Amino acid sequence: MTNDLPPIELVVVPCLSDNYAFLVHNNQTEQTALVDAPEALPVRRVLQARGWALTDILITHHHDDHIGALADLRAGARVIGAARDAHRLPAIDVNVADGDMIEICGVKTHVMEVPGHTLGHVAYHMPDAGLVFTGDSLMALGCGRLFEGTAAQMWDSLQKLRALPADSTVCSGHEYTESNARFALSLDPDNAALISRYKRITAARAANRPTVPSALDDEIRTNPFLRADDPGMKVALTMTDSPDVDVFAEIRARKDRF
Ligand code: ZN
Ligand code: FE
Repeated sequence: MTNDLPPIELVVVPCLSDNYAFLVHNNQTEQTALVDAPEALPVRRVLQARGWALTDILITHHHDDHIGALADLRAGARVIGAARDAHRLPAIDVNVADGDMIEICGVKTHVMEVPGHTLGHVAYHMPDAGLVFTGDSLMALGCGRLFEGTAAQMWDSLQKLRALPADSTVCSGHEYTESNARFALSLDPDNAALISRYKRITAARAANRPTVPSALDDEIRTNPFLRADDPGMKVALTMTDSPDVDVFAEIRARKDRF
């Protein structure tokens, strides 16, 4: 049997109250990467059960709920983080910036700077594995709050992520999807793809299943934050003549009040 896909396995690790960390494992090389380090115990449980050891830890941004367990988990692993945030991240072994390519678990990994939630936020894209790790930038049916960046920066970041191959799997940092879905429906009540996604989300949550990761093509069709340039969205917001970035800012502001 031949298969061009790399032998990569993805494990979603629920942490804290609503965070997700991710383990990426290459079954041939036995390398294992962790994306973000919210909490040690749940990560360790998976590593022990699988017999895996961490070779790399990728950090998306400096917030405590993404790095809090780094000191606990990092032994023996190479830690990768944004050069831009080196001053406020724990010690980083490999400082990365937009456009950098690093090899993680035997697959090439592109670094994308995606400011907005924080100024030093990065995403990691593994094109050959079809995975993108977005932290608190693009989230399932949402995007991170604008704690540091501007609406223009976040809109630009989201457009870069939206331009990735539509069959990419979006691995984001939190389980906020059900409330994001209610907000999305408030703007977009007639979107058939959103209505059917909402049903899948409520069923998953009722069964205590994660709604993350999500499919980029679903995000493109249903995530209001990716649709600030959609004529129908502009009509719904009575902003038909407004620049896309102003529409994005209005959607973000409404979500903050929702
Ligand atoms: Zn954050
Ligand atoms: Fe977070």
